[in-house]
Amino acid sequence: MPELPEVETTVRGLARYLDGARIERVQLNRPDMRFPFPEGLVQALTGATVTGLGRRAKYGLLHTDRDTTMVFHLGMSGRWRIDPAAFAKHDHLVLETKDHRFALNDARRFGFVSLVDTARLEEWPAFAAMGPEPLGPELTPAHLQAALKDRKQAVKLMLLDQRIVAGLGNIYVCEALFRARIDPRKPAGQVTRPALERLVTAIRDVLEQSIGDGGSTLRDYARPDGELGYFASRFDVYGREGEPCRPPCIGTVKRVVQGGRSTWFCPKCQK
Ligand SMILES: [Zn+2]
Repeated sequence: MPELPEVETTVRGLARYLDGARIERVQLNRPDMRFPFPEGLVQALTGATVTGLGRRAKYGLLHTDRDTTMVFHLGMSGRWRIDPAAFAKHDHLVLETKDHRFALNDARRFGFVSLVDTARLEEWPAFAAMGPEPLGPELTPAHLQAALKDRKQAVKLMLLDQRIVAGLGNIYVCEALFRARIDPRKPAGQVTRPALERLVTAIRDVLEQSIGDGGSTLRDYARPDGELGYFASRFDVYGREGEPCRPPCIGTVKRVVQGGRSTWFCPKCQK
């Protein structure tokens, strides 16, 4: 499932070819993905020039010179294929510029596309209540301290709440808490200020490292089949139940279920 680093890598990959390009042709191969394609999507994009690409949480943003932004979400299995040699099953939306072709492929169709006035993006329902970007300047220890104050819920669950930090998924919350040496079960309001400082650094580090790893897959964009692979980073705790913690710790990675989802952590070094 595409997490924030995959979305960021996708956006950067698309920007290489699409930024500043004019969309000559738009093709829809079915009426919907998770939701129907927006009415007027083809007309809104055909002939428009792409003025920039961006990301908010796990949403990709394609801005055009018509003051309209196409927002896309990759759902569970969505990916963009660049210059595919041939049409593939599950290519639901195809954009063509003078030199390139871009196919939004999504076998499970949990992804979707929306069209939003660029000036009103922040008011778009999915974005309106969203907390700060984990890689942006607004995520600070002070922000977390205020947001988590007096909260009795486990810190792990609070970090998955998009109103507190936007776009953090299960993998990166587990990994960041490990690096910050915080027990994921700890009541959020009891996490100390020094621990929150470590946590902000850890969140940025795990995401940036994963984006960096993903950068090496960018060359795949140039392949004739244009497949974008998702990358498996080396995780310290995620999916490592029963395996040894990282040296010098002699602990063993444990798995618990919180809010219906697995959490991996080391009880020895995460307090
Ligand atoms: Zn450990």
